[in-house]
Amino acid sequence: MSDCLVVGGGIIGLSLAYELSRRGMSVTLVEQGEWGGQASSAAAGMLAPLKEFTAPGPMLDLGMESLALYPEWAAELEELTGGDVQLSLDGLLTVALNEEEVQQLADKYRWQKEAGHAVHWLSNTAQVKEIEPLLTDQVQAAIYSPYEGHINNRMLLRALATACQLQGVKLLSGCVVSGIAVKGGKVIGVETSSGSLRAAQTVISSGAWVGGMMEMLGVSVPIRPVRGQIAAVSSVGIPLRTVIFGTTGYITPKKDGKIVLGATEDESGFQRDVTMAGLASILQGTMPYVPALHSATFLEAWGGLRPATQDGKPLLGPVPGWEGLSIAGGHFRNGILLSPVTAKAMADFVEKGETERLLPFLPARFL
Ligand SMILES: Cc1cc2nc3c(=O)[nH]c(=O)nc-3n(C[C@H](O)[C@H](O)[C@H](O)COP(=O)(O)OP(=O)(O)OC[C@H]3O[C@@H](n4cnc5c(N)ncnc54)[C@H](O)[C@@H]3O)c2cc1C
Repeated sequence: MSDCLVVGGGIIGLSLAYELSRRGMSVTLVEQGEWGGQASSAAAGMLAPLKEFTAPGPMLDLGMESLALYPEWAAELEELTGGDVQLSLDGLLTVALNEEEVQQLADKYRWQKEAGHAVHWLSNTAQVKEIEPLLTDQVQAAIYSPYEGHINNRMLLRALATACQLQGVKLLSGCVVSGIAVKGGKVIGVETSSGSLRAAQTVISSGAWVGGMMEMLGVSVPIRPVRGQIAAVSSVGIPLRTVIFGTTGYITPKKDGKIVLGATEDESGFQRDVTMAGLASILQGTMPYVPALHSATFLEAWGGLRPATQDGKPLLGPVPGWEGLSIAGGHFRNGILLSPVTAKAMADFVEKGETERLLPFLPARFL
């Protein structure tokens, strides 16, 4: 019997299990496959709330809060585990190649500046190319955001799994949850391929599979898989300095010698293979921004299932009518960014019953 049972060992489940265990709770974490083997290892690892959230509101606030937590969170994990997570918060560019895009970016820049965010407007080709010389001469303007960036999400997942182990989390990989156990209207744990597990509280953080798991209780939760196809090329001979976002793709120079190019958004159920059309759209969507990519060595392409919700916000908090059960899921395009803040806010709920930080994200809005 654990204090808390977390279902799903992606970035969200691992982060929450780690946070709960460092607060002294006994935690069991269950994963059907490998740690982080689904959406979390497929991600590009970008930490970019100002790029991702197109208007002020609770998602941007959550994203900024999480970004601010990252340096301490990453340093703590590195110190505890001795592993590098390659956090890089040294800026990114959102670029415009034509007049229409310049207008759209200028509008975004205005509200971000008025809201006090650290963004700079680069109004001509020379200014933009000063930050990133490898950009095309077609670039007309850009928003430069100096404190956003990226992390190596696969290294982060490894560090979190090691940290959980060091903190004494009971880690069960290759263990499929097949049922939710209920007694007298209260959730008391889960049934799995390795037997019954019992806990005072159960958190479902199974990414794109949250909906299916809640259906086991007859509860309908609007989380669906949205495939992302993504690719990597070698950075040899292409010394990019900065993450670049354009309207048709993004280009992320990582510290491990790869440039990650992304990404499609297409709905194909739980299918995560890479298609020819997907790969073509990634390559055609990114090469116009950096002509040097035409000669890059192709390394690999892969896919993952983003857990998408109806209103673009995650579901965080208790499931009404089911004592002892909560959800941490539906982070769509930003689960890596949002993992530290999700872990802390959900741990506050599991440990102390606090829901204030979760209010805009409570599952109750759908149930
Ligand atoms: C191509 C792509 C690019 C992305 N880029 C970024 C980015 O740059 N920045 C960013 O912040 N986010 C990015 N994302 C989004 C991010 O990857 C997700 O939001 C995040 O990984 C969701 O994490 P999760 O832990 O909820 O889900 P997952 O990582 O999918 O983990 C859920 C886990 O639950 C397990 N599970 C499911 N059912 C069961 C069961 N019955 N029993 C036991 N275990 C079960 C699964 O095996 C899985 O490992 C990207 C996603 C994709 C696909």
